[in-house]
Amino acid sequence: MNAQSDTRARDVVVVGAGPGGLATAMLLRASGARVTLLEKADRVGGRTASFEQDGFTFDYGPTFYLYPEVLREIFAACGRDLDREVDLKRLDPMYRLQFDDGNTFDATPDIDRLTAEAARISPADAPNVRAYLAENAAKFEAFRPILQRPFASARDLVGVDMLRALPLFRPWLTVDGDLKRWFRHPDLRLAFSFQSKYLGMSPFKCPSLFTIVAHVEYGFGVYHPVGGCNAIPKAMARIAREMGVDIRLSEGAEEIVTEGRRATAVRTRTGTIPADAVVVNGDFASTIPRLIPNARRKRWSDKTIAKKKYSCSTFMLYLGIEGRFDDMHHHTIYLSEDYTKNIREIEQGLAPREPTIYVQNASVTDPTLAPEGHSTLYVLVPTGNLEGGEDWEALAPVYREKILDRLSKLSGHDIRPRIRTERMISPADWESQMGIYRGATFNLAHNLGQMLHRRPHNRYEDVDGVYLTGGGTHPGSGLPTIFESARIAARLAAEDMGMPAPGMGMKEAAE
Ligand SMILES: Cc1cc2nc3c(=O)[nH]c(=O)nc-3n(C[C@H](O)[C@H](O)[C@H](O)COP(=O)(O)OP(=O)(O)OC[C@H]3O[C@@H](n4cnc5c(N)ncnc54)[C@H](O)[C@@H]3O)c2cc1C
Repeated sequence: MNAQSDTRARDVVVVGAGPGGLATAMLLRASGARVTLLEKADRVGGRTASFEQDGFTFDYGPTFYLYPEVLREIFAACGRDLDREVDLKRLDPMYRLQFDDGNTFDATPDIDRLTAEAARISPADAPNVRAYLAENAAKFEAFRPILQRPFASARDLVGVDMLRALPLFRPWLTVDGDLKRWFRHPDLRLAFSFQSKYLGMSPFKCPSLFTIVAHVEYGFGVYHPVGGCNAIPKAMARIAREMGVDIRLSEGAEEIVTEGRRATAVRTRTGTIPADAVVVNGDFASTIPRLIPNARRKRWSDKTIAKKKYSCSTFMLYLGIEGRFDDMHHHTIYLSEDYTKNIREIEQGLAPREPTIYVQNASVTDPTLAPEGHSTLYVLVPTGNLEGGEDWEALAPVYREKILDRLSKLSGHDIRPRIRTERMISPADWESQMGIYRGATFNLAHNLGQMLHRRPHNRYEDVDGVYLTGGGTHPGSGLPTIFESARIAARLAAEDMGMPAPGMGMKEAAE
C-alpha cells in the first residue's frame, strides 16, 4: 500500500515520558498521529522529574537549562509559546567557579566583565577571551546543522555541512588541547572546559568539538525555569494532554511486538497497543534489551552494548535547609585542587577522594522551592559509574559525611545543623531506582567512536518502525541536544508513515 494514499490516522506509541519522549509525542501529535505515551514511573520527566519532601521541591537531575531555542521551536510547531508556558529566568552571573585556593571566577555573559574576571586569574590571557568566544560562536553555527540531522551511516559524514565545519573541527585535539591555543593559565582553561562535565566527560578526553558548549552558555545564556527544570516536562505533559496525547503513567512497555522485520504493537501489563511507529525514549542501553530480544538485535546486541564506553555517574545530596545562604550563588562549582587526579579517579570508576562538588542554591532566585525562611541545596558530585565496582551501599553514608565536611569548609557555612530534610542518591541508586545502565547518568560517553553514525540511530536499524530519542541516542545527552533527537526521530517517523513533517499541519503540508 502506498503510505501517501492511505489517509488512515497513524498510531504511535512512545515509550518513556522523559524530555525526549514528551517532545516526540507532542511533535507527532501535531503532525496528526494518534499518540499513546507510556511511562513506567508514576510521574513524567524521567531524570528531569522532581520530588517533594517536607515542603521542599528538588529536581532529580538537570539544573542548568541551556539553549531554549530548540524547545521554543518545538512549542511553536505545536502552536504554543514556551515563554508563556514556563517562566525562564536568565542568570547573570551564570555560575561561580571556586578554585581550591579560594580564588573565584564568575561566569557572566557580559564580555567586558568576563574579560575582567579572566584578568584576575591571568592578565596575559584575558585579551584572548573575546576572540576565543567569537571563534567558538562560528564553530557552533557551523556544527548546528550537523546536530540537527540524522546520521545513518558513514556516508552521512560526507555532506556540505560537514565540509564547511571541517576546518573548525580539529579531531586530533581534546577540549583542553583546543583551549591551549588561547589560554596558558590552567585555571582559565578549566573555566572554559569544565562544561564537558555536562556530557559526563573529562575535558582532557572530550573531543574539541564540545568547546561549543561554552558558546551555548555565553552566547545564549543559562536559564533557571521557575519551579526547577522539572517545570519543563510538566508543561510539556500538560500541553501534550491538551493536544490529545494519551499519557499513561505507571504503565511500562514490556515488549515491542513484531511481524517479520516490522514493529506492529507494544505490549504492556494491561494489553497490546497497535502501533505504526514506536518511539523509545527510555535509557537506551537498559531499555532496548528489555523490549527487543537479543536475537533480533544485530547492531546493538547485549555484547555490543556491554562493550561500549559509558559516562560518569553522580552522587547526590538533596538538602532542605533552615534559613538561606544569600552569599552563595545560584550555581557554584567547587573545583578539586587536583582536577586531573579527580578526573582520573572518575574514569577508573571510583568515588574521588577530593571531589569536585557542584551546588545549586536555587532559593536565591526562586522562592517557590522551599517553605518561607528555608532553602534548598542540591549537591552533585561527579563519580565513576558502576564499572569501577565501588560498594556504594557501604560507601554512601561515609561519602555523605565527606561531602558535608568538604562543602562546609569550602562554602564557609556549617551545613549539618541546618539540614531539616534530605535525600541521597548514589550511582547504584541511579541504576536500581531509575533503570540507568551502570548508573552512567549521562548515557553512552561522547567520544568520537560513539558519536554521529556510531551512536544509536534515531531510526533504529534492526526493527522497522522503531525510532529512538533521548540522551543515549544521536546527537547526545543534555536537554537541548535531547530535544534535537526528538525532532529528528519525529521527522523520520512522520516521513516513514507518509505524514506531514512535524511543525507542518496537514493543511500546510498539502499546500
Ligand atoms: C544528575 C543529573 C544532572 C543533569 N544535569 C543536566 C543539566 O543541568 N542540564 C542538562 O541539559 N541536562 C542534564 N542532565 C542530562 C539530561 O538532560 C537528563 O538526564 C534528561 O532527563 C534525559 O532525558 P531523556 O529524554 O534521555 O530521558 P530520561 O530522563 O532518561 O527519561 C526516560 C523515561 O523513560 C521511562 N522508561 C524507561 N523504560 C520504560 C519502559 N519500558 N516503559 C515506559 N517508560 C519507560 C523512564 O521511567 C523515564 O521516565 C542531567 C542528568 C542527571 C542524571
